[in-house]
Amino acid sequence: MNNIADNLSEVRINCEKSAAVSKRKPDAVTLIAVSKTFDSNEIRPALIEGQRVYGENRVQEAQGKWPELKQDFNDVELHLIGPLQSNKAGDAVGLFDVIHTVDREKIASALAKEMKKQNRKVSLFIQVNTGSEPQKAGIEPENAEAFHNLCREKYGLEFSGLMCIPPVNENPGPHFALLRKLAQKLDLTALSMGMSSDYETAIEMGATHVRVGSAIFGSRA
Ligand SMILES: *Cc1c(COP(=O)(O)O)cnc(C)c1O
Repeated sequence: MNNIADNLSEVRINCEKSAAVSKRKPDAVTLIAVSKTFDSNEIRPALIEGQRVYGENRVQEAQGKWPELKQDFNDVELHLIGPLQSNKAGDAVGLFDVIHTVDREKIASALAKEMKKQNRKVSLFIQVNTGSEPQKAGIEPENAEAFHNLCREKYGLEFSGLMCIPPVNENPGPHFALLRKLAQKLDLTALSMGMSSDYETAIEMGATHVRVGSAIFGSRA
């Protein structure tokens, strides 16, 4: 289990190096430790090392482990990085601080309603399907601007930035570049891109949030 601390330390150093390559300060990049499928005992070593930002891809799984962990580490920041169903919007707004996967009107509407109801503001990202993969979540790149406008005008939502998951067997570079270009066009500053296999590239290309799971916690069952 100790190697979780070692892995985390190595990932942090790599993030700092890549931030330096892109001429940014280390704190310009937020490392999200993706703890999906790992249980509390595997997450604690990272918490003890001071890691406070975590990503989960399922609302229900996160509800099962984080309320208890948060009692011991009350400054944890939780990011939802997996697809959200509108009937889980209330639970998601209650538990998460940041949601990366807003990609359709029904979700935008449900989140706006729940944030008002719970009087709680969650930071939001629009997920963009940069590879236009039919099976993948996210708004098509050419529809991102219209969707952003709709969310703002009709639902009063404010966004921090954009998120993407490039196709598995492709060079991620062009996808990161496309996301960055789109964010500039929409006047959004945050870029959630980069996972275990490509977070260094993502940071060099401007990522402000990298989502790293297996490089910290080991491979998932
Ligand atoms: C699981 C997951 C990650 C982390 O993947 P690793 O390859 O283990 O780093 C990042 N982003 C999303 C959306 C994920 O679902």
